[in-house]
Amino acid sequence: PRLANQIAAGEVVERPASVIKELLENSIDSGASRIEIDVESGGVKLMRVRDNGCGIGEEDLPLALSRHATSKIEQLDDLEAVATLGFRGEALASISSVARLAIATNDRDSGPGWKAEAEGRDMAVNLAPVAHPRGTTVEVRDLFFNTPARRKFLRTETTEYKRIDEILRKLSLSHFDIDFTLRNNGKVAHQFRAAGTQLEQERRVAAICGPAFMENAIYVDMEAAGLRLWGWVGLPTFSRSQADLQHFFVNGRSIRDKLVTHAVRQAYQDVMYHGRHPAFVLYLELNPADVDVNVHPTKHEVRFRDSRTVHDFLFRSLHRCVADIRP
Ligand code: ADP
Ligand code: MG
Repeated sequence: PRLANQIAAGEVVERPASVIKELLENSIDSGASRIEIDVESGGVKLMRVRDNGCGIGEEDLPLALSRHATSKIEQLDDLEAVATLGFRGEALASISSVARLAIATNDRDSGPGWKAEAEGRDMAVNLAPVAHPRGTTVEVRDLFFNTPARRKFLRTETTEYKRIDEILRKLSLSHFDIDFTLRNNGKVAHQFRAAGTQLEQERRVAAICGPAFMENAIYVDMEAAGLRLWGWVGLPTFSRSQADLQHFFVNGRSIRDKLVTHAVRQAYQDVMYHGRHPAFVLYLELNPADVDVNVHPTKHEVRFRDSRTVHDFLFRSLHRCVADIRP
């Protein structure tokens, strides 16, 4: 409890996409190589995430559903070097307080697994054996069934689905090694095959950012002073939505940061005529100790220890490439 109080507790469940994000991050943390997502009615009726990760043991399952229980952090010091995506230990508990949540899981390669159901704030967790391969399936039904005030703030099914789709795109861009499938109302919307080679990665990026982006993009891979920047820089575009074609990851986490935006815009300066916007999918890798990505759990901000060096490195690396993509 002491630990929990020291960790910023953001309101996790705002809309279907925030549920999907938490569930996907859990599946990624579990070491899954395959993740399947089912969505019905914009996620309000159903969201189901199935993975082939490590699963949850029988004795840990009730714990996984309780607030501030996390298997991912031993002591506060670990926060400094959080390697896993989730660490607050309250996603499942928060979700089950506003929806009907069911988990089926197995942490072994043979034999039955266990299922648990939880609903509402006073959740009774009932455990029962169930047939399930190694891995975990989390099913969330009737989001906000018991909180009509929040349900009122939801947009149309199409809009809520679009946000789910955006979460998946971001996570697919930062986890090339995972096979993702998204089904919307029973129909396959995306199938991203695990991508090992650069060519396979470029296929996934093309599927997410559009073939036009990839056709004109230049592959970057620069290293200096303990920093590595790699990924793709594209022609500046009149994108419908700027955010669709601007993806920046720091140590695998999607971020939106003033310093990064500034460095990129400067690098693109000479080619941004007629109100175009930079288009890029970029990955910055640096020593985790030199960056704080947990400034706020939901805001995607970062704080670099040496922001000047990072800014210069980004600008220099990109400026050279942008000159090459001049149409
Ligand atoms: P956190 O991810 O912050 O630890 P969560 O509430 O999201 O907290 O999950 C609680 C715990 O449940 C996790 O620490 C993990 O041990 C377990 N868990 C949740 N989802 C999965 C999953 N898909 N595979 C394996 N373990 C899981
Ligand atoms: Mg989590």
